[in-house]
Amino acid sequence: MDIKKIQEILKDEPKFRIKQVYQAVFAKFIENWDEVTVLSLALREKLKAECPLEIPAEILESADKNTVKAAIDYDDGKVEAVLMRHGENRNTVCVSSQIGCLLGCEFCLTGQGGFERSLNFYEIVEQVLFFARYLKKYNERVSNIVFMGMGEPLMNYEEVMKAIRFLNDKETFNIGARKISISTVGIIDGIKKLAAEPLQINLALSLHAPDDELRNQLMPVSKNNPLPSLLKAVKSYIERTNRKVMIEYLMLDKINDSSAQAQRLADLLKAGLGRLFMVNLISYNETQKFKTSPAAVINNFKKILEREGVEVVQRFKFGRDIEGACGQLAKQRAKNKTG
Ligand code: SF4
Repeated sequence: MDIKKIQEILKDEPKFRIKQVYQAVFAKFIENWDEVTVLSLALREKLKAECPLEIPAEILESADKNTVKAAIDYDDGKVEAVLMRHGENRNTVCVSSQIGCLLGCEFCLTGQGGFERSLNFYEIVEQVLFFARYLKKYNERVSNIVFMGMGEPLMNYEEVMKAIRFLNDKETFNIGARKISISTVGIIDGIKKLAAEPLQINLALSLHAPDDELRNQLMPVSKNNPLPSLLKAVKSYIERTNRKVMIEYLMLDKINDSSAQAQRLADLLKAGLGRLFMVNLISYNETQKFKTSPAAVINNFKKILEREGVEVVQRFKFGRDIEGACGQLAKQRAKNKTG
């Protein structure tokens, strides 16, 4: 699907007509141009031929159907998006912002797989549209979006923001800014830009280590974005937006999960951010390189943070049976092809 192409084909139509088409595609989630009866037959035929609505993708559903992963096909690669169904009409789509990633975090299969390119805004929107159509069958809608799939969203800032504005638009998806989160590994310049945006988007920071030494080993990008400056940028984001920041922390067995590291993390965050943050302890979807911390270790880590007055949540583990972590589907497919 090519949103730009739709604009091009409809450029001579009156404004109200274009609005009707956008509502049909991005609010009613139609899958066939024939459903847009306000358009002439000739125009529908042209759109069918030049701008098909199909989104080619391979789908994997978890056994309980609460997690659905789509690998959307582009000429030059695949983009992964994941739908997480929490019940009671809460449906989060985790979107990708790039094909592959330049940043090479050690625990991430996307990072190990190289980089193709950044996505443009309509390729990001398309991922949400794919699941909006999927949910329509169940009479449900996409309620939340997290930029936590392949790629670093703040390295594709302009297109990500364009996509967010489109998804937030009342005439299309109408997803509230407060329901949209950007997760970053800590790109300081991007965090500063985000703090100046008028939209109330949520920020999540993937920290994964309580000191620069370990962070540099796990996430090479942190060498140029050291913790003191990073936390300063996040603190000023909190002060400017008055919004709570989520600190993401992957629990990696015997790497970052000791009692001493929990204490260091609490001290670091209390001193660096002060207020309006919470820590999310995430069980890792195991790869060959790392294992997830045992439940008792995670519990101990959590208790130390809580004792120090730090708010902690534990994200529910979604989709283990369908390779839920970012980049894992692409890797699996590659393995299947070569094996
Ligand atoms: S964790 Fe995110 S930033 Fe790091 S390599 Fe993976 S996709 Fe890139």
